[in-house]
Amino acid sequence: MKFSELGVHNDILDAISYMGFEKTTPIQEQAIPKILNQKDLIACAQTGTGKTAAFIIPVLDLILDQPSGETSTLILVPTRELAVQIDQQVQGIAYGLGIHSIAIYGGSDGDDWGQQKKALTQGADMVIATPGKLIAHLNMGYVKFDTIKYLILDEADRMLDIGFYEDIIKIISYLPKERQTLMFSATMAPKIRTLASKILVDPDEINI
Ligand code: AMP
Repeated sequence: MKFSELGVHNDILDAISYMGFEKTTPIQEQAIPKILNQKDLIACAQTGTGKTAAFIIPVLDLILDQPSGETSTLILVPTRELAVQIDQQVQGIAYGLGIHSIAIYGGSDGDDWGQQKKALTQGADMVIATPGKLIAHLNMGYVKFDTIKYLILDEADRMLDIGFYEDIIKIISYLPKERQTLMFSATMAPKIRTLASKILVDPDEINI
């Protein structure tokens, strides 16, 4: 379908067409209306299906009218590569909309604690983070996540394979109970179902 049929802000439509996207992919066609409808969601989708834009577009639309300076969205990802990639897609769509994002991850050149701390305490609308690194910041006590309204777990199966289950549960304990949670995974293994039953409320389900 055309993006213009989704009912998102014109500024976002302009950014989407600037990125060269003409039509929604199947995951986008199914997920975007459900997310805009403020439903929790579990989606089984592989990389390359357009799954990133499937959650970025509606969440950006939902947060566009809220006051800035408060972190409303947390995106948890398994690797620094994915954190950087998602941050770039957010910037691609949110550029010019006054929405700010930061990527928090470990590893050599990304491991700038001072800069990450500054970004986290100054407040970004969207935080995209690997669980281990984010827990380290949360344990220091200066990160406030009581304004989070949207939690997204991307590549949830990979996060569990890496061993992030405990970190994910701990991070979620810092978030408001009233929020919209979206979970994307390439597989629907039993452990994914178990995590979903703990953190999602009456979710819609999509299988691509
Ligand atoms: P992803 O599955 O999120 O990793 O996306 C795979 C690639 O598809 C990325 O390079 C996106 O920029 C691109 N993409 C996402 N949605 C669309 C779309 N509707 N039309 C064309 N390309 C897209």
